[in-house]
Order: sequence, then structure tokens, then C-alpha cells
Amino acid sequence: MDKPELEATLRGFVGRETGPPVEGPDPVNEVMIRHWCEAMGDANPVYTDRDAAAASVHGGLVAPPTMLQAWSMRGLAMADLRQQQDETHSDQQLALHELLTQAGFPSVVATNSEQGYTRYLRPGDRVISHTVVEAISGEKATALGIGYFLDTRTIFRDPAGDELGWMTFRVLKFKPHAQPAAAAPDPAAAPAKPRRLRPPLGHDNQWWWDGIAAGELRIQRCRDCGTLRHPPRPMCGRCQSIAWDWVVSRGAGAIHSYVVLHHPPVPGYEVPLPVVLVDLDEGTRLVANLAGRKPAEIRIGMRVQARIEAMDEEMKLPVFHPAESGS
Ligand SMILES: [Zn+2]
Repeated sequence: MDKPELEATLRGFVGRETGPPVEGPDPVNEVMIRHWCEAMGDANPVYTDRDAAAASVHGGLVAPPTMLQAWSMRGLAMADLRQQQDETHSDQQLALHELLTQAGFPSVVATNSEQGYTRYLRPGDRVISHTVVEAISGEKATALGIGYFLDTRTIFRDPAGDELGWMTFRVLKFKPHAQPAAAAPDPAAAPAKPRRLRPPLGHDNQWWWDGIAAGELRIQRCRDCGTLRHPPRPMCGRCQSIAWDWVVSRGAGAIHSYVVLHHPPVPGYEVPLPVVLVDLDEGTRLVANLAGRKPAEIRIGMRVQARIEAMDEEMKLPVFHPAESGS
């Protein structure tokens, strides 16, 4: 398929529903809300404390608005590739991805998502999502490679059809850059390993990466109430102060939770890749990779120690290792 033909086919997808509406497997419920709040560290009592919620403006328990998408996700079914292939014929989004893969754009990365919340959800609410392919860009050259941006818009509704909220989701389906050919003899040009994705750097997080480059694991601290927070952000979630400094963490902590990434493969990352959420001893949490343990050997509560390690010739990251016993 040549480029004009590909782009004409792509345009034909715009405006299509990606498939039939998807009803969330479970109604909004207190158990999932509690698990979410624990994982996020959100202690707002209107989500989990019936008495406090009853006395609030809500008059009863409500779900965190940011859970909106969680109510309609399919869980493990999403990881079943065979099922995905069976659904390719009915799911326009998967068909679109397949088309671009065949056309030489095999890689995919999510680039941004926005959500809006029309009303609070309460236990017992049912959530039905309707997703439409909203827009497809022309061919774009990006830092990752040449590709197409695919935008979908999901509207979440209750069974009566009333809107609960919406989400836009943009992915880049792209052809990764070829590794630069060695034009001149250059020892650094030996078969280049694909590198990890780079974080977007800005005013709010450059200082943290500068710390890593200097061998320090820094944790942002509110200058008014002393609360630690990570990842870096401009405002304290407890007292709304924008004054902050940082402390240097020892990097010691215990595994709070973890996942093991098997799929999809991403250039620069080796799978299976254990990703751990660690309660640092200083009192906040950090997500990083775990080395030195097979996935089956990882345990919640395991003591770990972060070391700052080079991922490639310019990027360093904290990586957790099992702590020496007795430490
Ligand atoms: Zn504060």
C-alpha cells in the first residue's frame, strides 16, 4: 500500500466507533475504591469513610473521579493476545493498529490522555464506555521516529445514557529510528543497543534528574508542612504550599507492590521486567525496576536497597536490589 492509499484508508477510520459499547464488568463498588485509595495513598474520607462521606457535600460515599476509566477496563482479558486477534475484525482500533503495523509502523507509544468528569460516581453505578476514532494525523517526524498520531475519544455513560465523563487518548504508531550507521570509525558506534525512553525534562523535574546524575536520590519536601512527595510536582498535596526543598534518600525501603512487565516489548527494555513500588524508609514511595530476583521470588514487604546505575552512556536511574540480610 503506498502512502496516499494508506492515508486515504486511515481517513476512513475517523468517526468510526471502535466497537460496540463496553459495559464495565463490575458496578462501582466500595472494595475497588478502597484498593485504589490505598494504592494511590489518597486518604480523602469521602471515598472510604461512610460517616464522613454522609456528613460531606456528597451525602454519601463517592468514587475518586480519576477511577473513571478503571470501571470499564477488562483486566486480564486485555493481555490475552489470541483474544485480541479474534477481536481484530470487530475492533476498529485494533484493525487500525494492524493496518499501520503492516504498513511499516510497528511500534506504539501512548503520548497523552485527558479526562473530564461530568458527575461523581457512587457505589452501585454502572459505567458503559463508547469509543470513537476522533482524529488521525498526517505522517509526522518525531523524536522517536516517523509515524501517525491516533486520537480516540471515549464517552462514559450510565445505563440511562447520561454522560458520566470522557477521555481522550493519543498514541503514536511509528517506525523507530534506524540505528545510525557508523560513517566513520568510532568505538562508540559498535552495535548500538536501543536506549530507554527519555523523560520529558522541565522546570518541575530537572532538579531530580540532576540529583540522579550526581548520584543522589532526592525526595521533594514541602517547606511548610514537611510532607515528602514523589514524583516531583509543584504543590504539596497536604497543605497546598508551593514552597519546597529536598532531602537525600538512603534508598532503603520495602516493596509495597509490584508488577512484572512481559508485553508489549519496548526497545531498550528487557522482559520480563519487574517494576516495584517501594515504601522508602524516609516516608514516601518510589517506582523503579528491581534487579537480582526472578519474578517468582519477589515478595511484598521484601527489603530492598536502591543503587543509581547507568542505563546507557548518558542516562542513570535508581534500581532496587534485594537488601543484604540484616540491613
Ligand atoms: Zn505541605
